Amino acid sequence: MAKLQPVRGTKDLLPAEARRHRHVEDTARRITELYGFGEVVTPIFEFTEVFKRTLGDTSDIVTKEMYTFADRGGESLTLRPEGTAGVARAFISGGLQQQLPLKLFYRGPMFRYERPQKGRQRQFHQVGVELLGVESPQADIETIAMGARFLDALGLKDRVTLELNSLGDAESRAAYRDTLVDFLNAHRDALSEDSRERLERNPLRVLDSKDEGDKRVVADAPLLSDSLNEASRAFFDQLTRGLDAVGVSYRLNPRLVRGLDYYCHTAFEFTTTDLGAQGTVLAGGRYDGLIGQMGGPATPGIGWAAGVERLSLMVEELVEPPRPVAVIPVGEAAQATALTLTQQLRDRGVAADLGFSGNLKKRMKRANGLHARLALMLGEDELAKGVATLRDLDSGEQEEIVLDRIVAHLCEKD
Ligand code: ATP
Ligand code: MG
Repeated sequence: MAKLQPVRGTKDLLPAEARRHRHVEDTARRITELYGFGEVVTPIFEFTEVFKRTLGDTSDIVTKEMYTFADRGGESLTLRPEGTAGVARAFISGGLQQQLPLKLFYRGPMFRYERPQKGRQRQFHQVGVELLGVESPQADIETIAMGARFLDALGLKDRVTLELNSLGDAESRAAYRDTLVDFLNAHRDALSEDSRERLERNPLRVLDSKDEGDKRVVADAPLLSDSLNEASRAFFDQLTRGLDAVGVSYRLNPRLVRGLDYYCHTAFEFTTTDLGAQGTVLAGGRYDGLIGQMGGPATPGIGWAAGVERLSLMVEELVEPPRPVAVIPVGEAAQATALTLTQQLRDRGVAADLGFSGNLKKRMKRANGLHARLALMLGEDELAKGVATLRDLDSGEQEEIVLDRIVAHLCEKD
């Protein structure tokens, strides 16, 4: 039994860390609900085809990162590497076009075979949203503003920057593609092997390369913004004016492209310098071609996804568990009363801990370890008098309380 270890790139979330994750997810759910988004839960695996069709055969995810396997019936299945494909599939297979516009929120684990680093795992978690059925930039404004609001609610407003770009419509991208291919061909020798291949199959992806040599070439590449047609420019203008109007600040980044085939017009990322190389915490864009490309009715869409691990690393210091009342029976005879009182407190919604064993000293130590706010001490002599001692563990003050009044007293204190 050599392998009693987590698989490389996976992690156990122990309570403190799981709590931070939940805080990030709960905040996302709360904020997206304010904007009228409802949660959708799609399966964690799909037919491999679902991802191949949406992410494109040339994307990094499809070529290198997917966990694909044949099930016992011989079907090729893939653990979802991202959330949009499954939501789009659910939209098509559920026949949801009558319900447009649709505002959907999702969360949960994603799987990508990549090199694990801080903020980069093989099983990681995302929260994300998709807004389907709205062609106008109003949807982009609302979706991006909601992302900003979410990060703000996590207390990260001053630690992230919104970077924004337009990829234009299909016509603009085709025009740009020609210009870019000419440029990249002229610098072919300086490109990495991966990028030379991308150049043949999907040249825009070269702009997204993380290879240092590629980055140097790309730094001088022509800009997409110079190839935008009138309509694409107007769309982007409306978006930036809308963001100005709702007070969301951004930095134009003409080099920003998204790694997936189906994006058009709006591309954006919220980035931070606090996490080293893994600086993107929330990223998204518009994908008007996606659902049509999958075989569904042509339906515009925009969405984003945020990495829960990365956000959780940033909010680390903020999330505290509820501080319990430590119930401390001293001596055998007090056990039964302690058990009943603890149960009554929990019934009333008060967090309570009943150490399982030990003398007063040991139990006080446990109470401090749990960061308990109060200790309720039940000594035999006190019980005989029908009272217990309540000690405030912050101030050290203590008072005697009649047993029958304890639960009510502690509930009032909440
Ligand atoms: P990166 O450039 O960091 O690889 P990406 O473009 O592959 O990101 P997206 O597919 O846009 O990422 O996913 C959205 C977000 O999910 C990212 O911004 C990041 O916060 C998070 N994320 C992506 N891959 C991972 C991973 N392997 N581990 C942890 N978080 C991740
Ligand atoms: Mg990636």
